[in-house]
Amino acid sequence: MSSRRNFIKYILSGIIGFPLLKGIRANYKPKVVVIGGGFGGSTVIKYLEKYIEKLDLILIEKKKNFYTCPFSNYVIGGFRDINQNKFSYHNMIKRGVNVVFDNVKYIDSENKKIQLNNIKISYDWLVLSPGIGFKWDSIIGFNKKDSIKYPIAWSGGQDSSMLFKKINSLEDNSKLIIVPPDYPYRCPPAPYERACLIAHFLKKKKRKFKIIILDKKDSFTKKELFLSVWKKLYPNSIEWIPRSKGGIVNEFNSKENYVVLKSGQKVFGDFFNLIPDQKASDLIFSSRLSSQEWCQINPVTFALKNHSNIHVIGDSINAWDMPKSAFSAYSQAKVCAENLKNIIFENKIEAPVFLNTCYSLAAENYGFSISSWYRTNSEKNRIVSLGSKSSPTNASNAERAREARESYDWYSSITQELYS
Ligand SMILES: Cc1cc2nc3c(=O)[nH]c(=O)nc-3n(C[C@H](O)[C@H](O)[C@H](O)COP(=O)(O)OP(=O)(O)OC[C@H]3O[C@@H](n4cnc5c(N)ncnc54)[C@H](O)[C@@H]3O)c2cc1C
Repeated sequence: MSSRRNFIKYILSGIIGFPLLKGIRANYKPKVVVIGGGFGGSTVIKYLEKYIEKLDLILIEKKKNFYTCPFSNYVIGGFRDINQNKFSYHNMIKRGVNVVFDNVKYIDSENKKIQLNNIKISYDWLVLSPGIGFKWDSIIGFNKKDSIKYPIAWSGGQDSSMLFKKINSLEDNSKLIIVPPDYPYRCPPAPYERACLIAHFLKKKKRKFKIIILDKKDSFTKKELFLSVWKKLYPNSIEWIPRSKGGIVNEFNSKENYVVLKSGQKVFGDFFNLIPDQKASDLIFSSRLSSQEWCQINPVTFALKNHSNIHVIGDSINAWDMPKSAFSAYSQAKVCAENLKNIIFENKIEAPVFLNTCYSLAAENYGFSISSWYRTNSEKNRIVSLGSKSSPTNASNAERAREARESYDWYSSITQELYS
């Protein structure tokens, strides 16, 4: 009898946990910790908030403000202020979510503990949406330190403003070099949209210029659309050199302002935007959660392979046919939240469907898009595309303006839903 009393006392004092929580007790709130308050993480929070009475819900985010990558190319194109892309967590906190601002150093998955700068936090279930990391060895001569002087502008924030300042200070007849990453990477059309919006700005400023895109790839998303708008809006100003025509860049020489192609040829420039190849967030590797470059997950629950009670969504995962985008992260997060809730409360697991719409602007009021639908295959071990629809290459200016407006509608609806 006394050992039973002690057992109850230990549970109430939190000394004994219920790691698997099968048959949850009425007075115990399972602790769900979400790491990363970007698109994926904030969506999981939003959809689990409905159960806040039954769950102990915590968000850990290292930055006080979230600057979105979507619309950061508009800042680089000179027609959007960076502060319009800035969101705080105040409203989330007001809604009752426990937000911890700290940097997660690593996750001790065996003991279900999260190491922050100074403290440890335990969890019953963990959801990770920490974004991407860079492969710093993908371009010789370009490492993390160099990216301060030559901003990559691939994580939102002040980098985009810095890149804009550089573009704004370019002289007439400047040569700009953009080096997109190899697949898979965050936001596949973004390097090509960036080329358009830089061209848009320089053209408006009546500068003569040439943008050269040196690509490791032979194709890219919405290629036909981009090629046709380059011809129409910026004739002879944007040149795309694919892999098969020698576009692979091996090296960067920042002292003498040139890149070296695989052939050994040097290409000199007045402006460089080098975007390294990518992998899952550094947190995944510091925590030894994946032996591969991208997290392998269950596409129905987003549970991480070989790690029970950890779920991963967004850019850090291999999502098969789904691209790495905010729209995808949002769509995956809704499924993850729903099925995580079903696991915790022992309800039926739902079969998921996913959606991604990706808008690109080629000028301030000139947009186009591609939408795709996805579900899991019959073995339920991968996400497969059900089809897609993209804007026509011969659309009128009015249709392009409508699509540009739609992109603003999408952006304001997702950011309002998550951060207001
Ligand atoms: C130029 C550009 C334009 C884009 N445009 C679009 C677009 O128009 N539409 C679209 O759908 N997608 C777009 N994207 C892609 C989109 O930004 C990403 O796919 C999306 O942000 C992925 O969401 P996520 O939750 O995986 O990562 P993120 O949104 O990057 O969130 C990750 C969060 O985790 C936090 N974090 C990371 N590590 C830690 C740690 N150790 N401790 C604590 N917190 C941590 C970060 O601070 C960050 O807040 C664009 C990307 C770029 C680069």
